[in-house]
Amino acid sequence: MSSPDSATYELLIGGREAPGTRGERQALTDPASGQEVARVAVGSADDARAALEAAEGAFRESNWASDDGARRVKALLKLAGLVEAQAESLAQLETRNMGKPLRESRGDIAYVVRTLEYVSGLADKVEGETIPVPGARFDYTLREPVGVTVHIAPWNYPLLLSVRSLAPALAAGNAVVLKPASLTPLSAVAFARLARDAGLPDGILNVVSGPGREVGEALVDDPRCASVTFTGSAEVGRRIAELAARRFVPATLELGGKGPVIVFPDADLDRVARGIGYGIFGNAGQMCWAASRLLVHESLRPALVDRVRAAAEALKLGPGWEDGVEMGPLVSADQARHVLEYVTDARDAGGQVVTGGERAHGPRFDAGHFVRPTVLADVPPTSRAVREEIFGPVLTVASFQDPEEAIRLANDTTYGLLAAVWTKDLGLAHATARRLEAGMVVVNEAPVSFPQTPFGGFKGSGLGYEQGARALEPYTRRKNVLLNLGTPKRKG
Ligand code: NDP
Repeated sequence: MSSPDSATYELLIGGREAPGTRGERQALTDPASGQEVARVAVGSADDARAALEAAEGAFRESNWASDDGARRVKALLKLAGLVEAQAESLAQLETRNMGKPLRESRGDIAYVVRTLEYVSGLADKVEGETIPVPGARFDYTLREPVGVTVHIAPWNYPLLLSVRSLAPALAAGNAVVLKPASLTPLSAVAFARLARDAGLPDGILNVVSGPGREVGEALVDDPRCASVTFTGSAEVGRRIAELAARRFVPATLELGGKGPVIVFPDADLDRVARGIGYGIFGNAGQMCWAASRLLVHESLRPALVDRVRAAAEALKLGPGWEDGVEMGPLVSADQARHVLEYVTDARDAGGQVVTGGERAHGPRFDAGHFVRPTVLADVPPTSRAVREEIFGPVLTVASFQDPEEAIRLANDTTYGLLAAVWTKDLGLAHATARRLEAGMVVVNEAPVSFPQTPFGGFKGSGLGYEQGARALEPYTRRKNVLLNLGTPKRKG
C-alpha cells in the first residue's frame, strides 16, 4: 500500500511514477515556517503530451468506459475507503504544503471521501432515453464518455477541488489528466497513488505538475483533450476558454467571487458574527466563495462591526499543524504581498482599518506568510478593495437603509458566485435570494456546500456547474440513434 509520506513526488503517467523529461525537482516549503516539505518533479509540455497519450491509450484499451459502470462504482468506492483510511496523513500533507489549519484540511479530505462516494452512485446511471418519433421507427439516445478530460486545479483547496471535477469525469468512464497548482501538488500525487491501489487501470488517472503556462496550455491545446475543467483566476480562465473554443472543446470554469453578506435588522448578531468570521477568515480568506463584502443594515452596523472585530482579534493565528490554530498563513509570500497591497489601496482611498491590515509579527510568525484578520470600513465602493477579489482575510463593510439598497449593492459586482443573507424572516430571505445575481445563496449560514448540491457562478464567476446529480453531464456526450424498423409483414 502506498503511503502519502514519502518526501519526493514524481509525475504519474500511465501508472508509472517518473521525474519527467526535464529531470528537475522543485523544493516546496511550509508557508508557516519556510522549511522544506518535499521535492516535486517539474513537468514539461512533453510530459503533458505523454500523459494525454497514456490517457487516450487507457481509454481505448481498458474496459473502464465500456462496461456497465459496475467496475467504476466499485473502484471509486474502494478509492473513497483508501482515502478515508489515509485521511489523517493526507490532511497533514495538505496543511504542511498549503498552510491551512489541520481542522480545515481534515474537513477537505472528508469532503473528498463524500464526493467519491456520491459520484460512485452515479457511475452506473449514465442513461439515455427513448423518444417517440413518427412511423415505424425507434429513437433512443446514448450517453458516452467524451474521452480524455483535463483538470487544472488551484492551490486553495488542492485535493478537494481536484477531486470535485475529476471524480465525476472518472465516474462517467473518461480517462483524466490532472494538473495541480505548482505550489500545492503533493496531495494530488498521493491521491493518484491511492487510485492505483484502488484498481483504476494504468493511465486512467494521470498527474502532471509543472508551470501552468507550459503544462496547462499544452494539455488544453491538444487534439486529445476533449474537455477542460479549470478553477483559478479569471485571467487564466479566459485564456483557457479561448484555447478550448478554438477546438470547440467544452470548458467548465470556476473563477472566483466577491461575495456579499446581507444582514437584515432582525438577524441574530452572535450567529452572524460567527458566520461572517468563517466566511472570510476560513482558509485565511483564500476562497473563491469568500463572503468578503459585509452589507449590514445601518441600525446594526456599530454592534456588528464590534462583534466581528472582536472575533477577528480573538482568532488564534499560527502554523496550521499546531493544535487549536484557527487561521494559518497565506499560501505564499506573493499572496501575502498581494493581499496587503489592497489594504494600502483602501487606506489611500480614505478607508478605515478597523482591525488587522498588517503582517503578524513575532517569533512564531516571522518565517511564515501571516497576515492578520482584517476588517476595512468606509472604503469607497469604486476602490479596488471593494471591486476585486482579494483572496485573503480581508472583509469590507458598508451599510444599507432598506432591502432595495442591499440588493443593489450586493449585485454591484462583476462576480456572481455566492451571496449570504441573514434574517429570521424567511419570506424576505426568499424574495432576496431570488433577486441576487449569484449561482449560490446561503441563508443564515456561512458559505457551505455538499457534493450533492450544484456549485457554480453567474457573470464573471465562471461557466457551468460542478457537483450535484448532474455532475457527470460535462463529461458525457449525447448520441441520438434512429432506427427505421421497416414495414411490418402482415400475417396470413
Ligand atoms: P492561476 O489562475 O494562475 O492558477 C490556477 C491554476 O492554473 C494553476 O494550476 C496554474 O498553474 C494554472 N495555470 C496558470 N497559468 C495557466 C495557463 N496559461 N494555462 C493553463 N493553466 C494555467 O491562479 P494563481 O495561483 O496565480 O492565483 C491568482 C489569483 O487567482 C488569486 O489571488 C485568486 O484571486 C484567484 N484564484 C481563484 C481561485 C478560485 O478558487 N476560483 C483559486 C486560486 C486562485 P501554476 O500553479 O503552475 O501557475
